[in-house]
Amino acid sequence: MQRVIIENEAARQNALRNLRLLDTAPSESFDRITRLASRLLGAPVSTISLTDNDRQWFKSRFGVDLAEIPRGEAPCSYAIYADEVFVVRDMLADDRFKDSILANAGIRFYAGAPLITRTGYALGTLCVVDDKPRTVTDDERHLLVDLAAMVMTQIEVQNTIGRIHPTSGYPNEYQFFEDLEDLARRQPERQTVGLLIELASPQQITHGLRVLGAAYAEELIRSATEAIRRTLGDEIQIYHVGPTRCLVLLDQSAIVGIEALAERLDGSLRNTLLFCGVPVNLDPVMGVYVFALSAVENPRDIMRRLFNAADDARKTGRCLALYTEMGDRAHARSFRLINDMRDALTGSADFRLLYQPVVDFASGRCTGAEALLRWRHKTLGDVGPAEFIPLAEGTALIRPLTAWVLDTAMGQLAEWVKTGRFPKISINISMRNLEESDFAETLASVLDRHGVGAGMIQIEFTESVLVSYSARALDQLRVLKEMGVAIAIDDFGTGYSGLSYLQQLPATVLKIDQSFIKSLAVSEHDQKLVHGVIAMAHDLGYRVVAEGIENHEAYDMLAAWNCDEAQGYLIAPPLAPVMMDEWLESAKG
Ligand code: C2E
Ligand code: MG
Ligand code: MG
Repeated sequence: MQRVIIENEAARQNALRNLRLLDTAPSESFDRITRLASRLLGAPVSTISLTDNDRQWFKSRFGVDLAEIPRGEAPCSYAIYADEVFVVRDMLADDRFKDSILANAGIRFYAGAPLITRTGYALGTLCVVDDKPRTVTDDERHLLVDLAAMVMTQIEVQNTIGRIHPTSGYPNEYQFFEDLEDLARRQPERQTVGLLIELASPQQITHGLRVLGAAYAEELIRSATEAIRRTLGDEIQIYHVGPTRCLVLLDQSAIVGIEALAERLDGSLRNTLLFCGVPVNLDPVMGVYVFALSAVENPRDIMRRLFNAADDARKTGRCLALYTEMGDRAHARSFRLINDMRDALTGSADFRLLYQPVVDFASGRCTGAEALLRWRHKTLGDVGPAEFIPLAEGTALIRPLTAWVLDTAMGQLAEWVKTGRFPKISINISMRNLEESDFAETLASVLDRHGVGAGMIQIEFTESVLVSYSARALDQLRVLKEMGVAIAIDDFGTGYSGLSYLQQLPATVLKIDQSFIKSLAVSEHDQKLVHGVIAMAHDLGYRVVAEGIENHEAYDMLAAWNCDEAQGYLIAPPLAPVMMDEWLESAKG
């Protein structure tokens, strides 16, 4: 057995602390060993004594009530550096111990075997004491050494549970954290390359689980770790750090050929998985982070950075992405926004709605307004909906967020109804909202609460997310339509669906995306397209709204093509309610 790096006391204490044994409850598996030690060596007291910074703490004690004693005076603090067994035949005859607490308490004899980890750190001792001076036989020495080894086996077994991923049998993230800290202590001067491999996209996993069942994930990780091992070789430790994520630490020199390595890994992963004989397509992405071990303050931070890099790779459609400070800042910002959104939604005035007028082409009269959400973050300032809505859509926050918008807009509408001049408010909702089985019901109760008729509101959602409609979303839309709510497809032209596809939906309004309107004056192609879309949409019975009208040329063309309604800066920008009142007043005159 390799012995301790004796001089490295900080590392020794760290190894002890990582085992999370100090100050834990007594356990029968350890008590059994101290009982046995006491009986076999014929000593009244036996303890498993761990050497902490300034104390000997007893994980198990037989025949004594004390929970700990000061480290300095304890024979254990000598025993941890002993080769085999440290023996004090008579404390009163030994200058080191004759005035110690133990000697004063009547203890005369001590024998302790060090408890040594596989990596060579002495954690403490298994020891016996007696109130009479005595010696130990060779047999008794061997017994004590064997029992100490049993204590270590027990500690290691306990420690392994929770460090190994049950599916793959590979060390998990906790082992990674510990190994990284260890490495950083031993070789702080080294640079290393972290490589995180995410085997498949979350959608692929969900799909796989649905079609192939739970065994799919197990099979996936088993064949993938095997493929990674074949590519990287046996010497590289693979950590299994998430359901479908593996992580390895490579030598600094690996960065030179990292792209080629990533391609090789990608190739071998893509060709690995057969499930019940059927090939399963994997779509792996990798994140890389090069860092100095001396800079490791928190190993979790290293893992987070690697996750973010892999995430960037997936978002940008690449096989590999390098961690960058800038990318990390963007992730950190998103994380912060998500965290702060809930608070901003409850109670504070950080969110508010603006209203952008929509006018009828034929009469020029205001037919309604679109409610547009604004967020003034306490420290980050104004954050646009294009940034925070997708974040909310990726979490459960989209539900309370839309609820807030509905409630606020309906409250405002009720005010405007009182003045008798405001016809309609259009609300943006997320496809995710339509997946809520009680969305229509909740909307009905908000309308009720504010005394507003369903005929006075319109909901709009973007076509681009409508790749597939779930039965539940379609149901909700039908109920909303029956209630009398107008349904509009927002940003029409940017998504995947054609007009015929849209016919599945109970929508009655199409809002042509502003990207087509912006270029109307200069692009003949867009003129033809928009003209065509308006004609077809009318044939199919839709009303057509053009958004993003910024100049008279576009306005006039759209009017000539019989577009129904107009929205854009040319008419008015999104306005606060007071400004809206003023605008309505001036528009009348
Ligand atoms: P959208 O629903 O298509 O809204 C129109 C966007 O175009 C608004 O941006 C509006 O301010 C802007 N706009 C209006 N007229 C013009 C113009 O003439 N020129 C230009 N360049 N832009 C114009 P905004 O408010 O930043 O909103 C962006 C998107 O965020 C919205 O696009 C909508 O999809 C989403 N959104 C806004 N508020 C909400 C909300 O309360 N809930 C949900 N789910 N989404 C919202
Ligand atoms: Mg909209
Ligand atoms: Mg739009």
